[in-house]
Amino acid sequence: MTQRGWDELDVLFVSGDAYIDHPAFGTTLLARLLEAEGLQVGILAQPDWRDPEAFKVMGRPRLFAAISAGSMDSMVNHYTAAKKVRNNDAYTPGGRAGARPNRAVIAYSAAIKGAFKGLPTVIGGIEASLRRLAHYDYWDNKVRRSMLVDSKADLLLFGMAESALSELVERMLAGETIDSITDLRGTAYLAKASPDDAIELPTYEEVTKSTDAYNRAFRLASEQNNPFSGKALFQPHGDRLVVVNPPAMPLTEEQLDRIYALPFTKLPHPLYKEPIPAYGQIKFSITSHRGCCGGCAFCAITHHQGKTIQSRSEKSLHEELDRLSRHPEFRGTITDVGGPTANMYGMHCNDPQAQTVCRRESCLYPQICKNLDTNDKPAVALLRKLRSHPTVKHLFVASGVRFDLLNRQPDYFADLIKYHVGGLLKVAPESTSPKVTKIMRKPGPQVFEQFLQRFREQSLELGKNQAVVPYFISSHPGCTLDDMIDVALFLRENNLRVEQVQEFTPTPGSLATCIYHTGRDPFTGDAVHVPLNATERRRQKALLLWHLPESRKDVIDSLRQSGREELIGRLTNDQKLSIGKPSRPPKQRAERKQKR
Ligand code: SF4
Repeated sequence: MTQRGWDELDVLFVSGDAYIDHPAFGTTLLARLLEAEGLQVGILAQPDWRDPEAFKVMGRPRLFAAISAGSMDSMVNHYTAAKKVRNNDAYTPGGRAGARPNRAVIAYSAAIKGAFKGLPTVIGGIEASLRRLAHYDYWDNKVRRSMLVDSKADLLLFGMAESALSELVERMLAGETIDSITDLRGTAYLAKASPDDAIELPTYEEVTKSTDAYNRAFRLASEQNNPFSGKALFQPHGDRLVVVNPPAMPLTEEQLDRIYALPFTKLPHPLYKEPIPAYGQIKFSITSHRGCCGGCAFCAITHHQGKTIQSRSEKSLHEELDRLSRHPEFRGTITDVGGPTANMYGMHCNDPQAQTVCRRESCLYPQICKNLDTNDKPAVALLRKLRSHPTVKHLFVASGVRFDLLNRQPDYFADLIKYHVGGLLKVAPESTSPKVTKIMRKPGPQVFEQFLQRFREQSLELGKNQAVVPYFISSHPGCTLDDMIDVALFLRENNLRVEQVQEFTPTPGSLATCIYHTGRDPFTGDAVHVPLNATERRRQKALLLWHLPESRKDVIDSLRQSGREELIGRLTNDQKLSIGKPSRPPKQRAERKQKR
């Protein structure tokens, strides 16, 4: 501030992450955007929330404080799926844990209110965004109120927030007060009365008491996710209403290009002396697009970034590469060109009318929608252009790819295998049991098998020794021990090794979390098995890692429990243990299980 001759900020950003001047971080991106619009902004990164003085170092800002927990929900950042405390934090210098509080948005908001009496507070980022309505919280094992209520903030910004924040600032500079700004897309606020035409959700008190009411609220809110036609929602909490306006409109190519052309240094703040692990991962990566139209049940990207794919222009990406190539540590390798799903670059809905009224959460499930333009030409042209940059030696695609789309993207697939894989390709079938993939809204095992075959054949043709790294989730709602045994067999038969198992964590806002809490699919009303028992959860994990000696006991116990002892030899690689009994038909297995 001294160097810039500022004696006061307009907006003070508070973030739970260390400050890295890279557009992969939401706070940085928003701060650079407001700076470009002529505002004086400061970022308070990982302040000590127990010390009110720590919040005063840049003084009281003129307009408001904008608070975020950082790139992750603070509870996901702090605890494992087994609710054990993590001892590291990728967003902190030295990777140390403990630099941000639990439920950081609430703690920072309280500290700001203590430091600057009467200062308006605006909350946003993934934590506030996905907790904008009453929601099930896995760590408290109860339904919590909207974070707007718990943080006592004046306004909540959900989604990527650029448009909402810019307009909010513009209107406040023009003299409007924050409590009078109630019509901004992508925002939520507390009110005494509901806006006209808004959809009423079951109250916080109702969703706390009844899982049916919780499912109804989830379904009603999901139906209004479409930015082109969604209506405002309101959910009573006591005598107040949490009003959620329709989502912000997707950004145009021009708007996105402008944001990514802002003068990011792509470096951590010079104050930091230790490396920040997350920076290492994104230092030489390029974001080509945002949004995901996959709508997987366990992922909340659709609720945060939206279903519409918003892509940058080839020119903008090439210019970013030009700038990146001048980075002092650049040695010719781009570690990733992608977005939430790498092969969705340039994809769009071909029918604007259908898009306006569309209520599908996924453009890919149960079948790829006929209106979805899956043409791979834009993505192929982009990768060709970037890899022919004179400074580039290697250009990888490390973001995950949707293998069901690759069937329709032959040129992208060919180029991916030939130039951009780097030995290992990450794909996420998540399960191969058709019953489970249906609940996850993922493609089934046949599609994955076809993909594997093509990948292996083409790699062989090219003389490349490449492999697929498959990602699987254990204990996902709908997955029984029997299903996981089938997955283990699939892995064995297809010669795949899972290296890391992701144990299902019910993170706020996702469909799978809703099912985890209520035990029913909110859209069909069907009862769904939820693996809650610690032994079952451990055994599911062991089955995914069936090839490891330490999994042996759990694998054998699982097979015995499911009445499938004849598989012991196959899943322990010890044929002596095969008792040779024929496999019981599913009906008998179910009866036997019921008897137990
Ligand atoms: S109409 Fe089809 S392609 Fe268009 S948004 Fe809806 S699901 Fe996606």
